[in-house]
Amino acid sequence: MYPSRFHYEAPSTLDEAFEAIEAYGDEAKILAGGMSLIPLIKLRFAAPACIVDINNIPGLDYLEEESDGSLRIGALCRHRTLERSSLLRNNYPVMFATAPLIADPMVRNRGTLVGSICHADPQGDWASVMLSLGGEIIARNAEGRERSIPVSQFVVGPFQNSLQTGEIAVAAKVPPARGTRTGTYLKLERRVGDFATVGVAINLEMSGGTINRAGIALTGVGGNNIQCTSAEQSLAGKSLNASTIDQAARLAADAAQPKNDVRGSIEYKRHIVYTFVQRGLSSREARAA
Ligand SMILES: Cc1cc2nc3c(=O)[nH]c(=O)nc-3n(C[C@H](O)[C@H](O)[C@H](O)COP(=O)(O)OP(=O)(O)OC[C@H]3O[C@@H](n4cnc5c(N)ncnc54)[C@H](O)[C@@H]3O)c2cc1C
Repeated sequence: MYPSRFHYEAPSTLDEAFEAIEAYGDEAKILAGGMSLIPLIKLRFAAPACIVDINNIPGLDYLEEESDGSLRIGALCRHRTLERSSLLRNNYPVMFATAPLIADPMVRNRGTLVGSICHADPQGDWASVMLSLGGEIIARNAEGRERSIPVSQFVVGPFQNSLQTGEIAVAAKVPPARGTRTGTYLKLERRVGDFATVGVAINLEMSGGTINRAGIALTGVGGNNIQCTSAEQSLAGKSLNASTIDQAARLAADAAQPKNDVRGSIEYKRHIVYTFVQRGLSSREARAA
């Protein structure tokens, strides 16, 4: 199907991008990797009056740790960059485990983490990962004012985010770790490259075998990515053993809100959540941290 007619802008600065957005208001859509937006407009599920392609704007394609130990991911940082990053391999295991599980190489070459979170697909993997890490989105407006929005408040519904009209998400941010980070992302998919039937993001920040901060979030088992607050709290200040792991896995399974569909029954998906949380927390790396 052909998309409906739209005006196309490819600004070379953020200021020009804000001008285009101001001219079209809610009728303007940012194009980052285009991996979700283009299928939507081709299927006519979306019909923006103007597409503002940010790919020519320098300074948005970066992945760097700041002096305070936080990680900043620019709006044009592709899944592929994350997949190949030695910084993520060494310090952000849940992110490093996720990147190769997103779609296929073609989508990973173009798609972005920030675009994925803005898109707010309940089956998107990155929002769960950012929930588990306590991540934020940095939004900027035409006056250059930036505000940080925790991902837990940024994704407000299926395919809905809390950006205000005229704002662009310029980056995502992960706060510094409270100790050594360990974790993983486990994803059940019907075939390689598919969206998650169930995804479980686990991030632990530990010192001397004690969990300072636990992050557990679920993909594909609710109307949004789900942060398992009770399971997280059950682990805080504790060490990993059979009893704490079992309790956290049960609480995470209780937090899931799966539906019966072609991918599986409610009972099956809940059981996968339990199994994945238990498996992720029982890993050799988690036990060794
Ligand atoms: C075949 C296929 C399989 C896929 N499989 C998976 C998968 O397994 N797991 C997964 O998580 N994802 C999957 N995806 C989605 C993929 O990860 C997309 O790359 C991602 O959802 C969107 O990123 P993007 O940069 O392409 O955003 P775009 O498509 O450019 O934009 C998506 C939406 O976000 C908005 N947006 C983008 N960037 C900004 C910004 N900086 N500021 C404000 N708004 C912005 C756009 O206006 C649009 O509404 C798949 C996609 C395809 C086509």
